[in-house]
Amino acid sequence: MERLQKVMAHAGIASRRGSEKLIKEGRVKVNGKVVTEMGVNVSKDDTVSVDDIPISREQKIYYLLNKPRGVISSAHDPKGRKTVVDFFPEIEERIYPVGRLDYDTTGVILLTNDGELTNQLTHPSFEVEKTYIAKVTGLVHKSAIKKLEEGLTLDGYKSRPAKARIIEVNKRNNTSIVELTIHEGKKHQVKNMLKKVGHPVEKLNRDKYAFLTTEGLQSGEWRELKTFEVNKLK
Ligand code: URA
Repeated sequence: MERLQKVMAHAGIASRRGSEKLIKEGRVKVNGKVVTEMGVNVSKDDTVSVDDIPISREQKIYYLLNKPRGVISSAHDPKGRKTVVDFFPEIEERIYPVGRLDYDTTGVILLTNDGELTNQLTHPSFEVEKTYIAKVTGLVHKSAIKKLEEGLTLDGYKSRPAKARIIEVNKRNNTSIVELTIHEGKKHQVKNMLKKVGHPVEKLNRDKYAFLTTEGLQSGEWRELKTFEVNKLK
């Protein structure tokens, strides 16, 4: 149960003071009946309307999860595998991931119930920058980095110019660590780009989504986004 004016304020109707004024003016109904006294509590099942227009009761929530390997990034899995939503058992709201990470990819993934922001962030024209750290097979040479940066022809599309750099080349294991920053989010894009230049991905972590990182979060841990972070994403 929550105070009526708080529910109204959360729905973005007005400030709590402003909401109290609306209540006093007799413009607010709970389940179809005008409420003018203060301090009324309402539950999730009650319908609240202002000037006979029902208000949305869903509060917007935003989380950042440090996704482990072996977790699927959709809200439901028909095969019953663990999903990113399963990390939030106590959250009543229906949340869903913003974009996707592969089953075996780790790192930053956002979850929210804000459909508008999700659409905006995943729309190709918005171009959120995503930085990945990949462990790949083979010793990466500058020429491969150049190709990654210029853009490559993949399954029916050309990847847009990316930022790439070699972090480490390990001759003993015949592996390298590469950082790749892209603006797109096609399925398996990073893996496909690196494979195309001759370096299949062995391990992939998303280090950064826009300005957000997993700093302070162990694998499988999550935190709520701060208001300024949400505003910065919008
Ligand atoms: N690119 C991939 O290939 N996999 C991911 O999980 C994310 C980007």
